[in-house]
Amino acid sequence: MFARGHLPDPVAYYVEREGARLLGRGHWRSALCPFHDDTRPSLRVNVESGAYRCMACGAKGPDVLSFHRQRHGLSFVQAARDLHAWRTA
Ligand SMILES: [Zn+2]
Repeated sequence: MFARGHLPDPVAYYVEREGARLLGRGHWRSALCPFHDDTRPSLRVNVESGAYRCMACGAKGPDVLSFHRQRHGLSFVQAARDLHAWRTA
């Protein structure tokens, strides 16, 4: 079953796993959007919740699980497993 508490920290996920540069300060940071050919940081990322929203192409989601699914074309369970947030038994 899905174990939300095991999802990686949003900063660790976006920076270390996805190689994003998070610009700015505060809860919402800016980054280059991987969902379109971005030349300026159009993606807004919430470092508390992991939510993301692109001001240019409209890609969005509520957490790093959603980002991981969209970015890598995974099912919910595949993404949860990949992020070590899936527990059997
Ligand atoms: Zn975009």
